[in-house]
Formats: sequence, C-alpha cells, structure tokens
Amino acid sequence: MKYLSTRGHPAKQTFSQVLLSGLAEDGGLMLPETLPKITEAELTSWRTLPYHALAFNVISKFVDNDDLPHTDLAAMTKSAYTKEVFGTDEITPLTSLEKLQPGLLLQHLSNGPTLAFKDMAMQLLGRLFEYELARQNKTLNILGATSGDTGSAAEYAMRGRKGISVYMLSPAGRMSAFQRAQMYSLQDANIHNIAVEGVFDDCQDIVKAVSNDLNFKRKHNIGTVNSINWGRIVAQVVYYVRGYLASTTSNSQKVSFAVPSGNFGNILAGHIAREMGVPIDTLILATNENNVLAEFFTTGVYRPRKSAETYETSSPSMDISKASNFERFAYHLLGNDGERVAALWKEVDRGGSFDLSNTPEFKSLRERFGFVAGTSTHANRLNTIRTTYEKTGTLIDTHTADAVLIGQQLAKTGIPTIALETALPIKFAATVKEAVGFEPPMTDAQKAMMALPQQVTTIGLDVARVKQMIAG
Ligand SMILES: *Cc1c(COP(=O)(O)O)cnc(C)c1O
Repeated sequence: MKYLSTRGHPAKQTFSQVLLSGLAEDGGLMLPETLPKITEAELTSWRTLPYHALAFNVISKFVDNDDLPHTDLAAMTKSAYTKEVFGTDEITPLTSLEKLQPGLLLQHLSNGPTLAFKDMAMQLLGRLFEYELARQNKTLNILGATSGDTGSAAEYAMRGRKGISVYMLSPAGRMSAFQRAQMYSLQDANIHNIAVEGVFDDCQDIVKAVSNDLNFKRKHNIGTVNSINWGRIVAQVVYYVRGYLASTTSNSQKVSFAVPSGNFGNILAGHIAREMGVPIDTLILATNENNVLAEFFTTGVYRPRKSAETYETSSPSMDISKASNFERFAYHLLGNDGERVAALWKEVDRGGSFDLSNTPEFKSLRERFGFVAGTSTHANRLNTIRTTYEKTGTLIDTHTADAVLIGQQLAKTGIPTIALETALPIKFAATVKEAVGFEPPMTDAQKAMMALPQQVTTIGLDVARVKQMIAG
C-alpha cells in the first residue's frame, strides 16, 4: 500500500510516513494509490467482531505489515477501543429515531473522553504517534489552534505520551465553560494550554506564523494533528462499516448516512467506506449556514469564503470557510487526475473558486458517488432538537441536529438512514436550553471536572512568546 499526492507529485510514501507528515511536497494531500476493497465474505465474517477487531481488519488494509507490523497495530486498536474509554462494549451504539421518522437511526460517536466524535480517531492516533515517534527516535511538538472540539480531543489523546508535547491555542473567553474546564483542567506536564486575547483566527495566525519560520519549525519538530491527518481518516472509516453491520442482517441491504460536515473529514471516511464496497446507498452531507460544501454538491461551484462571510453559528465546530479534506474527494471525482486537481487548487489557494457544473464528472456525481447535501439554520436546529426530544426522548446537540434534520429531508423511503451524532448536548448546553427549556444534566464526573483547578497561560497576539514557550 503506497500513498500519492492529490496534486500529482510522483513521490510515493508508506502509511507510517504519511501518518506523521502534513502536506505532500507539492502542497497536496496524500491518498492511497488504489483503495483497498472489502469483499462480501469479509463483510459477513466481520458482523460478529468486537469493535477493536473490526478496526484492526479495516485499518490494516491501509498499512503494509513490513511498514508497521500488524501485531502492533492490533495491540493499539485493542487498547484504544475499550468500554473504559468509550463507555459501552459496542463503542458506537445505535438508537432508533423511528418515532421521529420511519427508518431513521442515530449512531453515537460521542462517548469518548471529550464527548465529541473526534475522539474516535484521536484516541488511536495518540497511540500511533507515540509508537511511530519511538520507532523513528523522534520527538514532536504539536502546535494547534482550537475553538473547542479538536483541541480537547488532541489533548486527551496525547496526554502523558512519551516524545509528544501539545501547545494548544484557544481564544480567551470564547469557549463554553464546559469546554474550558475540559481542556484547562488537564495537569499533565506535556499539555500546554495557551489562551490568546483575540478570536479563533488570531490563534490560527499565530500557529501559521510559527510554522512559517521553517528553521524554528525544523529545529523544534513542530507538527499538527488537524483534520487532514490520514490516520484520522482511516480510523473514521471503521464506524461507517460498524454502523452498516449493526443496522443490517444481510449484505444485500443498503443504508444511508447523514453527516454534519465542516472540514469534510468525517464524510470523506464514509465515501472511502463506500468505495471499498460497503453497501452505502446515499451519503447525506449536512452543513450549517457556512454552506461551502452544500453549495458544491448542489451546484458544482466550490467557493471558499472570506473571513467576513464566515458566520459564528450555534454549531461552531462546523464553522469553516473552506473544507480542507474536500481536495481528496475532488481527486477521486476527477478520476485520480492530479494535474487537474493541482490546477483547480491553484485557483483556490489564490483565494478563488472553481465551477465543475458543466463537466461530465459533476453531472454523474450523485449516481457514481451517492452524495446529496442540505443546509440548516439556527431556527431549524432548535426545532429539530425540540422535536427529536419530544417524539423520541433523545436529547441531541446542535451539530447532530443538523444531520437529523437534513437526514429526514433527504432520506429515501425503504432505506434506513443513520444520522451520525458528533457531540453530546452537554457541550453546547446554552443552545440546547434555548431549544428545550432546560440544560442537559451533568453526570457526577462532569460536575467534578468543572470544579477542578484550571491551568492556562493567557497571552496577547504574541508570536515570540509562543516560540519561547515551545523552545522551553
Ligand atoms: C469537527 C466536528 C464536525 C465536523 O466534522 P468534519 O470532519 O470537519 O466535517 C461536526 N460536529 C462536531 C461536533 C465536530 O466536532
């Protein structure tokens, strides 16, 4: 299994190389040269596997044994996907939302340590990073900016790991009390929380400024764990296979998935599962008011937004101006033509857009790849949270509400539709209260977390200070 850039650079890499590197040499993203297939017989034999064994079977298709010994990979999936970490033996249990709409299901991906689906991949990634760094005799300083879910999932995955330090910038005073407590209560010596007096974009600008100092970056082994990381994508493929198997009894049945989308990382994994042969009918892409992706899938125009056109919404983890992983789908859509992708992204990187509406690839997209898309508003999400609660007794968060709403609108009759739950309502308590009139109750463990002492360094827009902290 070798990996190639979406922009056509000929250098091939192995899984372990792709795991730790960011972009390809030509600025593209890495993808397998050809996608592995899941056979009918495999699918049948996987029906009875525990989650960690299913994860091993799926992920090992993307990893050569002589690159990363499969016995080691199996040990890592086994320690990552446990009841202790994810709350249940099923890891991603299903709930019926039949009373809301016939055939509608909810797959719970948010029972990991930070109560958002990013834990599903990040918990394995922490183990893979620690393993690979030790093997290559390297250390890594992970530098990131977060407005919530990514930063906390990264910190909980990397805490206490050898060879890894995390420097996570967050906008001071702009995260919910729960999100702040989750991150800032960590006391591990390798976790560094830095609150920046500014907005999320200011945090990102600092990260860029530090990373653009190539000497500093090389000297201090600066890396990231953002959503383009290939290890995260493959780990996410697993829950699509699991959702399919758990909602069917025979491989002749099809199901659809409804996915609340921002950077296109989650639904890209669904696309890969479908290409590998999982009988997925439709991939229903749901966006909020930041509808860059829904616009592409309905019109063929991909138009990243300027900052002024990027809205702060009640589903903040989907507030994106462009969708970094979308380039990987475009590569498949355009028949693995790296030159065409490179030409399109030359426009995008210049702040422009592109229009595929008149191409045969776009015209056959829906039939060939199964994508449809829709957009929700704040009022839609409130209404969906309320109705879902009233009719089914299940309380969902604002991101999940987007998937439940668009899933209901675009589901085909007779085909079960699984909406992916990407966060628990307690993370977005204020909006949930706006919808149902009460805040989601906290567990005793969550109450205890809120009361823990917090550790955070607050700084101004100070690049030099961040460099100082990393240099030690
Ligand atoms: C990150 C996130 C999303 C968006 O996922 P992408 O992979 O960026 O499309 C949706 N919901 C929640 C709660 C998230 O944290």
